[in-house]
Amino acid sequence: MVDNSLSPHGGVLVERVAPPGTSGDRAGLGSLPQLPVRDQIARECVNIAYGFFSPLEGFMGLSDLDSVAREMTLESGYIWSIPILLDVSQDHLSVLGIGAGERVLLTYQDQPLATMDVWEVFTYDLESLAQNVYGTTDSAHPGVQRTYNYHDRFMSGPITLVNPPQINPPFDRFWKTPRQLRQEMEDLGWSRVVAHQTRNVPHAGHEWLMKGAWLAAEADGILVSAVIGEKKTGDYIDEAIVLAHDRLREAGFFRQDVHRTSTLLWDMRYAGPREAVFHALVRKNLGCTHHMFGRDHAGVGGYYDAYAAHKVFDQLPDLGIKSVLTLEWWYCPTCAGVAYEGLCGHQEQKQDLAGTLIRSIIQGGVEPAPTTLRREVLEVVRDCAEKYGFGSPFVGEKYLANRTPVMSMPKLELNGEGAGCTCMDK
Ligand SMILES: [Zn+2]
Repeated sequence: MVDNSLSPHGGVLVERVAPPGTSGDRAGLGSLPQLPVRDQIARECVNIAYGFFSPLEGFMGLSDLDSVAREMTLESGYIWSIPILLDVSQDHLSVLGIGAGERVLLTYQDQPLATMDVWEVFTYDLESLAQNVYGTTDSAHPGVQRTYNYHDRFMSGPITLVNPPQINPPFDRFWKTPRQLRQEMEDLGWSRVVAHQTRNVPHAGHEWLMKGAWLAAEADGILVSAVIGEKKTGDYIDEAIVLAHDRLREAGFFRQDVHRTSTLLWDMRYAGPREAVFHALVRKNLGCTHHMFGRDHAGVGGYYDAYAAHKVFDQLPDLGIKSVLTLEWWYCPTCAGVAYEGLCGHQEQKQDLAGTLIRSIIQGGVEPAPTTLRREVLEVVRDCAEKYGFGSPFVGEKYLANRTPVMSMPKLELNGEGAGCTCMDK
């Protein structure tokens, strides 16, 4: 085990972005074989390049993968819990003539994204990978499904971002690199920062979760870190999530100097306790000192104990970011407001504040009590439904097909002829 108390994870913030201009890392891009990558891989390239995934400098090789799968550590000894892999089919590699020792150009939306120095091309047993990471081989688990969908080879090696994507409104205000976030926290005078991971529009339970965690951590600030990635029907639309969280600050439910909303481009693996560890490491890289974990953090179905994410840290060395463990917040008619499981003695009267209840209120057109959902938040949710959601605050077919993407690739002219191929483009 390696001392993990340094900040960021691994001690150094990884930054692998080619400086602007056409010289240096961009020279000769046109002569590289081109490999189009899908949304997930593009997001992970961006995360590696800006240090969200420090100390990773590229996609994992066999020894790191094997160590992460079995021991939850990188080969270097640093804790790491979720494999970060670039999968590709052998057929595709053969067509492109790519192998170990080559440099390739990863492309996205038909534009250059990053270069990769290929160190290894390898295979790995996907069932054992699923068992180790997810604790199950059941393909009904979305993370296991994602694992089984990998192509038949993995390609490892460091990447360098050569064409930083443009983050589109309204996300541009909220997407910040770890370096930018660390600077902002310094400017705000924050030295103790508690991270709130979310994929939800905040109801009163979330608001109090944040307030309780801020008190428990004796924090200076709260960083909402909204996970933006692949969407499925019925999820809240991304725009509503970030704008509703920020509204809590704008409307003064959090003071201007204690609350910020940010985004993390990430496709949830639903790996329960392992994903909790991953979330802690990424937020540590953002500059957070504390991370809140509630009930069933990053879980799905009945695969994990409701408090597995609380227990996992007991078996790990100091990660340099502390867990703030919270029980449930619910609505209690006798307490006449939002109440905490650890305090309220009327458990038999508890009313669930979970998303499903709130959804039925929003969809049914009934005005929820401000004690369950702030009017200001409801207003944002309704505005977002009109402006971004094709009439609904929830993801539907129209949204999936027609939404403005979170990130777009600027045009980058290449010198020289590229050996393009689009058979993997999705
Ligand atoms: Zn009560």
